[in-house]
Amino acid sequence: MTNLAEIATDRRTFMGLLAGGAAIAAGAGAAQASKVRTRAKVLILGAGAGGAAIANRLSERLDGAEITVLDGRAQHWYQPGFTLIAAGLRDARYAISSTERWLPRGITFVSDYAAEIDPEANRVTTVGGQRLDYDYLIVATGLALDWDAIEGFDLSMVGPENGISAHYASPEMAEKSWHALDKFTNEGGVGMFGRPATEMKCAGAPVKICFLAEDIATTKGNRDRCSFVYNAQAQNLFGVPVIHHRVRQIMDERDIAYRYQHVLKSIDLGARTATYTTPEGEVTDRWDFINVVPPQRAPEVIVNSGLAWRDRWIDQGWIEVDMHTLRHARYANVFGIGDINGVPKGKTAASVKFHIPVVEDHLVSEIVGREGTRSYDGYTSCPLITRIGRAMLVEFDYKDNLTPSFPGIIAPLEELWISWLMKEVALKATYNAMLRGRA
Ligand SMILES: Cc1cc2nc3c(=O)[nH]c(=O)nc-3n(C[C@H](O)[C@H](O)[C@H](O)COP(=O)(O)OP(=O)(O)OC[C@H]3O[C@@H](n4cnc5c(N)ncnc54)[C@H](O)[C@@H]3O)c2cc1C
Repeated sequence: MTNLAEIATDRRTFMGLLAGGAAIAAGAGAAQASKVRTRAKVLILGAGAGGAAIANRLSERLDGAEITVLDGRAQHWYQPGFTLIAAGLRDARYAISSTERWLPRGITFVSDYAAEIDPEANRVTTVGGQRLDYDYLIVATGLALDWDAIEGFDLSMVGPENGISAHYASPEMAEKSWHALDKFTNEGGVGMFGRPATEMKCAGAPVKICFLAEDIATTKGNRDRCSFVYNAQAQNLFGVPVIHHRVRQIMDERDIAYRYQHVLKSIDLGARTATYTTPEGEVTDRWDFINVVPPQRAPEVIVNSGLAWRDRWIDQGWIEVDMHTLRHARYANVFGIGDINGVPKGKTAASVKFHIPVVEDHLVSEIVGREGTRSYDGYTSCPLITRIGRAMLVEFDYKDNLTPSFPGIIAPLEELWISWLMKEVALKATYNAMLRGRA
């Protein structure tokens, strides 16, 4: 099978899963590949989407390895569900499970956070002072939400009494965000939306919540009492040009105002105003509802570890991995999975699914003394919800090519019910299968 054919089959397997075909994926996981006997010590930082999935894959592949997973958060969060919670379609419990539930038997789980990483000594020290030595390190810590960067803002402000939403923060905050959105779409006023200037996870999510808010106001019969403003950080509404044009078209059709190069700087709760930085200087606007999405950066421990890029993303700290192999550029025994990777695209759970086989291949190949061959092409996917019951399944790669999994069947730029079903119903099953190492 050619590489391209392999990639296409793999993608269809994932999308088949999205459509409910879990059985297809069961055979596509690590179980198919041959087992490797080793006494290697593998340390995985983070047990979120990427950490749990690679722990399951490696525990299938490596016979005799010492696999340790480190994560201090007892709860696993299904973050793609946060948008549904913030739109009143699910409650907070929908996105919460236990971290340990997803981890395989036979590994060691350390319920703590990494406080220090020393890639020269191959050692991680936890907040609690435990020393963990490794032969291979997989960094899957996700990213940190920098709420403090928004002056005047505090997560305690989120909720209907203040008209503030922050659905990125946690399942509970997403639920409070819904109560704020519900009140706004009942009473009317000005709704402000937007995204930060840094790289971010699921760059479509701020757009989705804006579309959903407009749809909810319309359904309630209150559209004429509400206005909507979307503030983009760049000279476009989405980084992939063809998607930008489609989003702009929908915003025009639905009378959602948009502004380019407006980045949220501060909030004045008393005055109900927000200040944005723009190339022409600062702009201050009144709001009745505001959805705050903060700047996003690598966790402090990564920034201080020596693993971050030294000449790119200086203010953000993403780790310096090769964009195709996801292997660290300076420490060959270190790999990155998920949002923490310093690559031009791919901060989605769907991308994690395509990071996993690449890291597995290069790590296992290294153990047996071969060269890995798998390559990550930047695959990023985002079911871009446009209203309740409609979404566009946009998938793209490093080169901004659209990479539809079902060409000729699901049109990526059309608002379809099937794409909505994938987000609303099938994505969670797919995600769970990925955590178990089966997708
Ligand atoms: C509102 C919202 C909507 C989204 N919608 C979608 C969507 O529709 N489709 C999609 O594909 N993706 C979506 N995503 C993005 C997706 O959830 C992330 O890209 C994905 O979870 C990344 O996986 P990860 O393993 O890198 O990080 P995470 O899943 O965030 O896991 C990181 C883990 O690392 C742990 N950790 C952090 N610091 C340390 C430390 N120092 N030591 C040890 N452990 C640590 C954390 O506790 C956490 O458990 C959405 C995200 C949000 C917030």
